Amino acid sequence: MKAFFLNIPAHGHVNPTLPLSREILKTGDVILYYNFSEFRSKIESFGIEFRPYPELDRSGIESENPIELISAIYRVTEELLPFLLKEVEREKPDYLIHDSLSLWGWILARITNLPSICSTTSFAIGYPVFEALTDFPFSVFRNFWQGRKKLLDLLLRRRRMRKVYNLPKRAIVDHIINTGDLNLVYTSKEFQPVYEVFEDQYEFIGPSVPVSQDSGDFPLDRLGSSKTIYISLGTLRNQRIDFYNSCIQEFQNSPYTIILSIGRNTQPEDLIAVPDNFIIKQSVPQIEVLKKTDLFISHGGMNSVMESLYYGVPLLVYPQTDEQAMVGRQVERLGAGLVLQEKESKKGIRIQSEKILGDPIYLKNAKDQETYLRGAGGLEKAIEKLEEFKKNKILSL
Ligand code: UDP
Repeated sequence: MKAFFLNIPAHGHVNPTLPLSREILKTGDVILYYNFSEFRSKIESFGIEFRPYPELDRSGIESENPIELISAIYRVTEELLPFLLKEVEREKPDYLIHDSLSLWGWILARITNLPSICSTTSFAIGYPVFEALTDFPFSVFRNFWQGRKKLLDLLLRRRRMRKVYNLPKRAIVDHIINTGDLNLVYTSKEFQPVYEVFEDQYEFIGPSVPVSQDSGDFPLDRLGSSKTIYISLGTLRNQRIDFYNSCIQEFQNSPYTIILSIGRNTQPEDLIAVPDNFIIKQSVPQIEVLKKTDLFISHGGMNSVMESLYYGVPLLVYPQTDEQAMVGRQVERLGAGLVLQEKESKKGIRIQSEKILGDPIYLKNAKDQETYLRGAGGLEKAIEKLEEFKKNKILSL
């Protein structure tokens, strides 16, 4: 069978789908994977056939504010749909796979009546999650207020699209929850907040974390003789020289080995010092480092948190966005780590780290999450669910 994969231009949303797509290819299906052209080499490196979306204005699609984000998603959707409809006519796919933010995938499935699979790279979200992990309803009011300049644009586009494509009316927040006939989430049911709300609709397959990684010239042999703390704010919002310098001040002259990944936009020379117990790099082989780490101080990106827990490493989460704050709260609720608040970041870095390192319950809880993530079923379960989906939604027609 032939599938279209319709993803959004964000590495965090693409990365977990690549091992899955490769597994789908092994079943004999063909995937035409659509994204913007800068994703070509990454997608092709997994042996997947790449198809570029036409270049268009995608400003706002990386916005943290849901109103700005949804307004941008609507703009992209309006422009992409005529192109995608022609692609469907030309290629005649049997089913669609789309990201949970890919409104164009959701609408395309409705217009064409094609069965669809939704790929969710964070955990499943909805009001019950906001209630559990944010200061709801204030978080929603705040988002509306901060995104108010785009609200009218969003409402007008929603109305226009509903008319043109005869779509059902949806609440604003639903536009970032574009579910399909089968909904895959790359975490475990134990990590999913308020799991019971989602259990009937979603399949929790766990993350596809690599078992090993090329460590290049990274000095892995320096790790292991003392407690090791790994610090990274991920690959996107990582220009926090103030935070890196605070880490240096708090952990220099400490008994710990510290690995500090500062990102491609910061140079080691920009920092106040490189103490002897520090290894400072722009990027590190995170999987190999985690295998020898006692504590991960992370921004709370979903991939980093999944990788950390997959290797049973407790976390101190220092969120840089609202979504990461939700992930951090969930880590804290599960007892697998703590959240470092912005206001306590300087002194709190060491105090909170030592709290986690000094109390074995955090390690135990992180190890429990490791067991759940490794037992979630992985790609094998995803393929099983895919085969059921094809049988029920395509072959039975
Ligand atoms: N990563 C890495 N080396 C580094 C920093 C990050 O390999 O020095 C990888 C990490 O393993 C993870 C990804 O970059 O897979 C970061 O994704 P995440 O969702 O955690 O955060 P984002 O970068 O999207 O904010």
